[in-house]
Amino acid sequence: MIELVGLTKRYGEKVAVNDLTFTVRPGIVTGFLGPNGAGKSTTMRMILGLDHPTSGDVRIDGKHYDQVKDPLTYIGALLDAKATHGGRSAFNHLLCLAQSNGIPTSRVHEVLDTVGLTAVARKKAKGFSLGMGQRLGIAGALLGDPRILMFDEPVNGLDPEGIHWIRNLMKTLAAQGRTVFVSSHLMSEMALTADHLVVIGQGRLLADTTMADFIRQNSRAYVRIRTPQRERLLDVLHQAGITVVEAGGGALEVEGGKAEKIGELAAQHGIVLHELSPQQASLEEAFMQLTAESVEYHAHADTTPVQQAWGADWKGA
Ligand code: ADP
Ligand code: MG
Repeated sequence: MIELVGLTKRYGEKVAVNDLTFTVRPGIVTGFLGPNGAGKSTTMRMILGLDHPTSGDVRIDGKHYDQVKDPLTYIGALLDAKATHGGRSAFNHLLCLAQSNGIPTSRVHEVLDTVGLTAVARKKAKGFSLGMGQRLGIAGALLGDPRILMFDEPVNGLDPEGIHWIRNLMKTLAAQGRTVFVSSHLMSEMALTADHLVVIGQGRLLADTTMADFIRQNSRAYVRIRTPQRERLLDVLHQAGITVVEAGGGALEVEGGKAEKIGELAAQHGIVLHELSPQQASLEEAFMQLTAESVEYHAHADTTPVQQAWGADWKGA
């Protein structure tokens, strides 16, 4: 479990992380979502004690990082995949980490196998592709068999096969009861990976919710209709108390999942339909709207952003 309470980091005038309070729980994948510059990496560095909070507190199972004995066996992290020693082989890089942390050499072979680098283990890391570098970074995070894992934008620059692999790895680690905290700036990526979602913008908490709730609240359902008998259909729908809006390109839209009802009404009145399609607004749109509000908040600093924009249920959990 990772607990943040009022965590704040300033760099001069810049507030990179602004009063963050949330908890990352074991057994699930928690997605940490925010646009570039939102403060995700800074938050993760503070969790690892690599950066000191200006105010507030962050604890790993009740302890500060520097109070944790054998930290690699407690929390593993992939922060910057390019931070590995380029001149060393993958094997030697991991061996050094293992030896300085009292981890047996057999474990190096295990993690190389887990991340699929056994065949290139003796090659110098500087010749690695971005994807191989990410895998090596993940091997380092897994080395101490830690209960808590943290990955900062692990899918950046990976090919579809690598992305698929990382997604499955994170789900597997969570299913083993571990705490998995993973950042991304892509809503679509989080939707496929995370069970729980923490969204930040400009250093501030914007949402702390289950993925299922986020999807339910943000993927607006509507029906798209096209008909050559527009006026007649508008009349019929109006009489049935159904509100219709213009959607551009001659299409009409009706809120909610009313496709069947509309189809039946059209049939009853002999109206031809060229399109009657249930639609779902994208999560990416919802995320952009959510973070756009945080930008706006900074322009009008006298309002409470989350409550104003989203109502009390947003801060939840
Ligand atoms: P993210 O990982 O979400 O993209 P970061 O945590 O890297 O965001 O950055 C948050 C903000 O803090 C950015 O505006 C960034 O420029 C600033 N920042 C991060 N690290 C430093 C630093 N060492 N000195 C000054 N500003 C920093
Ligand atoms: Mg970052």
